[in-house]
Amino acid sequence: MKLELSLVVTAAICAAAKPLSKAGPSRNKLLLISFDGFRWDYDQDVDTPNLDQLVLDGVKAKYITPPMLTMTSPSHFTTITGRWVEDHEVVHNMMFNTTTNLKVPHKQTLTRSEWWDNGVLPLWITAQNQGLKTASFFYPGGGANYSGQAVNRVRVEAFDHQDDNETEWRQNIDTVMSWFSEDNFDFVTLYYGEPDNVGHAKGPDHPDRKTIIQQIDRTIGYLREAIELHQLSDSLNVIITSDHGMTTVKKRPLVDEIILNKYLNLLKLVSFEILDYGGFGILTPRPGKQQQVFDALSKAPNLTVYKKDQIPQSFHLGRSERLPPIVVVADLGFNLNSRFIVYVNKGDHGFHNGEMDMKTIFRAFGPDFRRNFLSKPFDSIHIYPLMCKLLGIKPAPHNGSLAMTEDMLLPRGGSHRPPASLAALLLTLLTFAVL
Ligand SMILES: [Zn+2]
Repeated sequence: MKLELSLVVTAAICAAAKPLSKAGPSRNKLLLISFDGFRWDYDQDVDTPNLDQLVLDGVKAKYITPPMLTMTSPSHFTTITGRWVEDHEVVHNMMFNTTTNLKVPHKQTLTRSEWWDNGVLPLWITAQNQGLKTASFFYPGGGANYSGQAVNRVRVEAFDHQDDNETEWRQNIDTVMSWFSEDNFDFVTLYYGEPDNVGHAKGPDHPDRKTIIQQIDRTIGYLREAIELHQLSDSLNVIITSDHGMTTVKKRPLVDEIILNKYLNLLKLVSFEILDYGGFGILTPRPGKQQQVFDALSKAPNLTVYKKDQIPQSFHLGRSERLPPIVVVADLGFNLNSRFIVYVNKGDHGFHNGEMDMKTIFRAFGPDFRRNFLSKPFDSIHIYPLMCKLLGIKPAPHNGSLAMTEDMLLPRGGSHRPPASLAALLLTLLTFAVL
């Protein structure tokens, strides 16, 4: 009897250690969602029942740190490549050329491969090359080709896309769920342009920002219902994150706004500039004028000017070939104006990523994540190796570290529910105990 029992127990344990089904998928699917400009603490002064529930059902980091520079395209591309901005070279929201003076607005860069494709492969392509099916729904960089390869399925935001339509938000979730459940996609990235727009237009402290956070919260509730409806609860991991935070723009009479032309004659000394774009500016001095430009800008208050080759290593910007020779970072809340104050934003970003107002969110849930787990804050660059681990693929070269995030994962083979064979083992033991 004792021998019999131990044999049954051994057999049951062996069965428990094996995958549940040989024919079934060995990896879970992954959905990466980004809500642009979701500051780390935006949910703390609003009623957000669905985000609160996510804390119990999954993983939350108190905050995460985006790369320098804290701007939409550069930061999103760091998340999807695991590379610093100086390596992936998407160094601004606007595509530019310092020689021809070309400047292309953000939305129009979304399908311009020459801006995105600089020899660094985003996760979509790396995953596809290892046999996975991937898609991008509005995610920055998803609409470009990389070494001639396109993402399997792509939706790109129209130039005049309205960012705050809740009905469309839900339709997009329905679409993505059907991509997973009917078309068997493995990895999808989904992007929303809020709360960034409201943050810019009204400022982070405006009641409308709270309203849009509640809309996001309802959308997360809708997402969780959709996951159930499509029977993806046991096979879909979800990461919810963002690209940067938001801070209130300081204006007169509170402060003297920065107008750079007061400190140097831009026309005379500079051949290329992008300055009226939040807290981050770039300039190409005319030949022989670099020191003069640097000295003049050094005298301007409430900003720090860097020569590219002297940018702090921690910014991970200095090795960029694309970045012009002079980089200017304004103090938190000060916008850089070139000649006039034409910038009407009440909130902005692009400031130093060490500022708490630039920190952003990280949430995750699904079959591979722990529940009710509070992660230490980490740099967004570490999301990339985590995604590779979840998808079971070999990462391309990257600057992240799985060690920063892997404690949020369940131990290998772990699961929220006991596997069928373990349940069988317990039943067997119970039966023997009764006998
Ligand atoms: Zn923005």
